[in-house]
Amino acid sequence: MRKHLSLFLAAILLLSLLSGCAGKPGAPGSETAAGTAAPATDSAAPATDSAAPETLSPIDPPEPGVIERQDVAPTGKLEGCSLYVKPVEKLPVDFIFGMDASQVPALEASGVKYYDLDGTEKDVFQILAENGVNMIRVRVWNDPFDAEGRGYGGGNCTVDTALEIGQRATKYGMKLLVDFHYSDFWADPGKQMAPKAWKGMSLEEKEVALFGYTWESLVTLYAAGVDVGMVQVGNETNGAMCGEKDWPSVVKLMAAGARAVRAVYPEAKVAVHFANPESGAYPAYAKALADNGLDYDVFGSSYYPYWHGTLENLTGVLKNVRETYGKEVMVLETSYAWTAEDSDFSGNTISADSAVEKPYPYSLQGQVNSLRNVAQAVQDAGGIGVCYWEGTWIGVGGASREENQKLWEQYGSGWASSYAAEYDPDDAGKWYGGCAVDNQAFFDAEGRALESLMAFNLIRYGNETELKAESVEDAELRLTEGEDVVLPQTVEAIMSDGSRQTVSVLWDADPVEIKPLGPGSYTISGHAEVGLPVKLNVIIEGVNLLENPSFETGADDPWVAENLGGCKELKIEQKSGDSLSGDWHYHFWSPDANKAEFTLEQSPEGLEPGSYDFSIHVMGGDCGAAEVYAYAKLDGEIVATADMEITVWNEWHEGTISGIEYKEGQTLTVGIYVKAPAAGAWGKIDDASLSRR
Ligand code: CA
Repeated sequence: MRKHLSLFLAAILLLSLLSGCAGKPGAPGSETAAGTAAPATDSAAPATDSAAPETLSPIDPPEPGVIERQDVAPTGKLEGCSLYVKPVEKLPVDFIFGMDASQVPALEASGVKYYDLDGTEKDVFQILAENGVNMIRVRVWNDPFDAEGRGYGGGNCTVDTALEIGQRATKYGMKLLVDFHYSDFWADPGKQMAPKAWKGMSLEEKEVALFGYTWESLVTLYAAGVDVGMVQVGNETNGAMCGEKDWPSVVKLMAAGARAVRAVYPEAKVAVHFANPESGAYPAYAKALADNGLDYDVFGSSYYPYWHGTLENLTGVLKNVRETYGKEVMVLETSYAWTAEDSDFSGNTISADSAVEKPYPYSLQGQVNSLRNVAQAVQDAGGIGVCYWEGTWIGVGGASREENQKLWEQYGSGWASSYAAEYDPDDAGKWYGGCAVDNQAFFDAEGRALESLMAFNLIRYGNETELKAESVEDAELRLTEGEDVVLPQTVEAIMSDGSRQTVSVLWDADPVEIKPLGPGSYTISGHAEVGLPVKLNVIIEGVNLLENPSFETGADDPWVAENLGGCKELKIEQKSGDSLSGDWHYHFWSPDANKAEFTLEQSPEGLEPGSYDFSIHVMGGDCGAAEVYAYAKLDGEIVATADMEITVWNEWHEGTISGIEYKEGQTLTVGIYVKAPAAGAWGKIDDASLSRR
């Protein structure tokens, strides 16, 4: 019932705002009988519960609540940091250093405690405030619970979570950034599902519902005295939000949220949030917002160095939006791993073997350098701040996955619980579990603040300690079987300021031990002169047993072509621009349809019994629905094929057959088959290889 009432009130307020007769809180002439209810003491929708207005008069928020502030020194600890921090020059005093701390209440319910840099147990929000964090971000989902009231996880974050976190942040002098996902669970570029309750609604109904929900949520915070500094209308909304997938609809919904923010917290900034600055799509997003007339203040971006392109690009795209549309810009989410290790038996997004960009070592210094450089990139764009994503999210501390799983399910303290399956079956339903970012927090597994937490302050003041080597890059050596081995004498050390130095190295193996090794990959350990261990990855490729593998003799021999369809040109050709390597390749062309069909093969002699790999390359065009494959024959019978394709000029495709088992006395034949039906079909074949495994 209350929901219906709220929606009704919201509809009235929306109408009145749209018609321009709404007053801001306390604005002259906006006096109403019902709307200005007594300040609420309980957290649930105070203003709307008290009485329903009987006219179309706008509703004012109640009197703001008051939260008693506790003094903290925002530069709590600056001495004794061993990490190198180059200051970001001329950083404004009010530059935002935010921290998303959405998971904290669920973690605390699960038994997590936090300790400051001196080891004293404290409210984690006090610890953050002491270390230069001045804004706390919290995600808000409409209804992250199933019909039995069991939470989906990820902190089960609702406006009640925002209320608790907001009160604690305000107490320690930090502003709150409310991040409305307008969904019942995680919203990101891949997922923008409408809340369950809004699913069947038309766009117009959704606008009203979203306006009412935003208004009611913010009034809850306002009535409690929470110092809201910014409100996000949507999370990583790359062209979709709340189930809508076209810009006019998305912007209408954002606008409904923005109107509610202006009505309740006129001093707060309205932010929009996108991901993938590397995509090149930000100018189009910013234009769509402008074309559809959105009233907003901050264009925010996620920036995860693993996936989101360079810092130069980040600066460029943010600066472009700031200069083109006069909007403020910032990074709303970033993070970096300080260790590759997991601490809660639930795998992490980033681990040692993640195939991602790794611009810094996974160390405390790497984490600090990443944060510092993102702040610099935002400063260079003329931006207003950086918010770190969930630097307080650590594991729940159990001794096994089973133990932790119970806590995740009970308190929603993992990223998703099994109960989320009904809403998000394909992701949460399959992969629910604990914390995927415990290695990117500013606290260790026991909740003790890491030295890197000092970076928020030190980025302002600098801490230019003596440079030291942080890590050493693994080296790589590629060889052909039987080749003389020369080990590298130096490796690259990454210094604490991110610079690189060439340093000498000693390996634990001799070249004479490596030379007899067969094809394969080997790892040799060593020590760099800076006292750090290092690895050498040795990749030994087998000798190419084909003759004339790249056609560089300028003769067909020993290749044999069989012109099956009467292809007009089928011959060896000299043209380096059309060759994959060298000057020569094999060429075909058919002006007539259905004539380009042929094989090109050779049968090497003197092979030892064993297992062999074959590969060959082709490129070309105008082939139509071509059938192309590499093949291997034993005694004339095809034993393996590998499908290939022919697309456009200079786009080479490799066909690879692995593990051809060859016995003494057999004849092995390897080659390529092409059947290209279109008139004008042409192509080039080059660089074949046969090697023993
Ligand atoms: Ca984990």
